This record gives sequence, C-alpha cells and structure tokens, in this order.
Amino acid sequence: MELDGVECMSSSDGIDEDDATHHQHPFSKSHIINGNGTPVSPAIPPATSVHELLECPVCTNSMYPPIHQCHNGHTLCSTCKSRVHNRCPTCRQELGDIRCLALEKVAESLELPCKYFSLGCPEIFPYYSKLKHEALCNFRPYNCPYAGSECSVVGDIPFLVAHLRDDHKVDMHSGSTFNHRYVKSNPREVENATWMLTVFNCFGQYFCLHFEAFQLGMAPVYMAFLRFMGDENEARNFSYSLEVGANGRKLIWEGTPRSIRDSHRKVRDSHDGLIIQRNMALFFSGGDRKELKLRVTGRIWKEQQNPDGGVCIPNLCS
Ligand SMILES: [Zn+2]
Ligand SMILES: [Zn+2]
Ligand SMILES: [Zn+2]
Ligand SMILES: [Zn+2]
Repeated sequence: MELDGVECMSSSDGIDEDDATHHQHPFSKSHIINGNGTPVSPAIPPATSVHELLECPVCTNSMYPPIHQCHNGHTLCSTCKSRVHNRCPTCRQELGDIRCLALEKVAESLELPCKYFSLGCPEIFPYYSKLKHEALCNFRPYNCPYAGSECSVVGDIPFLVAHLRDDHKVDMHSGSTFNHRYVKSNPREVENATWMLTVFNCFGQYFCLHFEAFQLGMAPVYMAFLRFMGDENEARNFSYSLEVGANGRKLIWEGTPRSIRDSHRKVRDSHDGLIIQRNMALFFSGGDRKELKLRVTGRIWKEQQNPDGGVCIPNLCS
C-alpha cells in the first residue's frame, strides 16, 4: 500500500524517516532466524534492534503478520510477497509459502514508537494499535491538496506549499482578503468539471480556495470553498466568507475552512461551501449567458480561541 507513495516521499527531506533513510539497510539482519529457529549465517552479527529485525528488507516498512520467508530464511512483508512473483528478492530462490512464526510472535509482543516519531509524534503502542494510531496520527504527512488529478505526493505543509507552487503552478496570494475572477468561455460544459485552486497565505497559515463546476443531481452548479492546510482542530480557529453577485443580488457564504485531511471530494460532496446554481451564475455574469464571469470576493479571519472545542462538521450527504 505504502509503496506507491515512496518515490514522492523520498524527494522530500526527512518527511518519512522510515521510507527515506533506510533504503541501504543490509539484508543480513533477516538471516538470523529461519523457520526452525536455527541461525542461518552465524558469521553475520545480530541485528541491532528488534525494530530493525521487523523492517521488511524489500520495502523497509514494518512487517506485520503474516510475515513470510523463503527456504533460506529471508523475510519479507505480505505486501511485498504478493509482488515478487514467487521469487525471493534477496536470493532469487523460489519463495513458496512459508510463514515466519517466530518473527510474527516477536511482532505481536512489541511496543513500538509511532512511525511518525521523526516528525514529532511521541506515542508508543503495541504492534496492532500502532497501525490504528498511525492512520490517524496528527504528525502523519498530508496528501497533496491539488484536486485536478490524482497526485500521490505527501509531505508536511511547507513541502506541499512548495510542491503546489512549483509542480502544479498554483497561484499564490498573500493576505486575508481576496477578489477573484473566474472566467470560462463555455459554461455549458459542466461535465468535464472545471476546477481551480488558489493558495492564500495569511496569519502564518496556508489556505486552499477551490472553485469548480459539477453536476448536483440534475443541476449544474459552481462551488467555491476553502480548505485549511493543517489539522482540523487548527482549522477551527479560522472562519471565512465568500461573496458573489451582480445586478443588485448576491450570495454570501460564511463557514469554517475544512482541513486538507478531508479530501477535496469529501468536502465537495458535503456541500460545505458557496454553491451557485448555473442559472444564477450566468445571471451574475451579465452579458448574453455565453460566458461565465464570476467575481468572488472573500475574507479569512481568525476566531477567538474556542473554549469547548466542540465542533459540528456538516456532511449533508451521508
Ligand atoms: Zn515489504
Ligand atoms: Zn531468500
Ligand atoms: Zn503518531
Ligand atoms: Zn500534487
């Protein structure tokens, strides 16, 4: 699972210590135990820590039961096993279907630090709760918030800001107010959803302003919303407003930015933002309804620290 993201992660300095810095691990540590518990290569010094022993020599992720091994005792994780076409990646022998029960028992008995330890997480867990925690760890890297394509880049916020600017050519703005024009020559084509992303930098934080067209039931709509580049509990410290209008009418949205932990799609599908029916959008655009010309003004502000921390995230669809 994690393999897919490894290439991107290694390009970001120190983002994931597990993946980025352990590639050169000697395979020797996996010689220590084989199926019947005898050492295979006694000349090789023992592994320095159990944690290293449980690191898959192929993908360097931690191994969880079922842990597999070849006839010569080389271990590998179950994800890697399914990818190596029955050949041991270390000795090229046929792999077969041998479990390494000894190592599985060791794995189950361990308490280990969160894998985002190097990113600042101080937590320590038994093997299985560690997996559960890591899926939700506040120190885990963020996914790239760019919505236009599947982008597998992950990293911390400064890394992702640079990535959006350099690799996705996203517009960057400073300041807490904005005035944005969206122009589209063929507003009838909602199907191939148009979308845009602009990044705002204010209060020492980064915010993603999304604008896009999609089909809401039978109705074509435009939607604008803000996502906060950080965790949900930090996002709650901010509010924003969006306003669009012309000819004496206007629509105003006021809300709390969602965290980029929530996928772009999830936010969109919960309708947590300014939604403009196409007819209204074309009315706001003026002219002959052949062109979409929307002016969206907005503001981001910092809320007083909320005492209770209670929050209600709308999810109207589920
Ligand atoms: Zn592996
Ligand atoms: Zn082998
Ligand atoms: Zn953690
Ligand atoms: Zn990206």
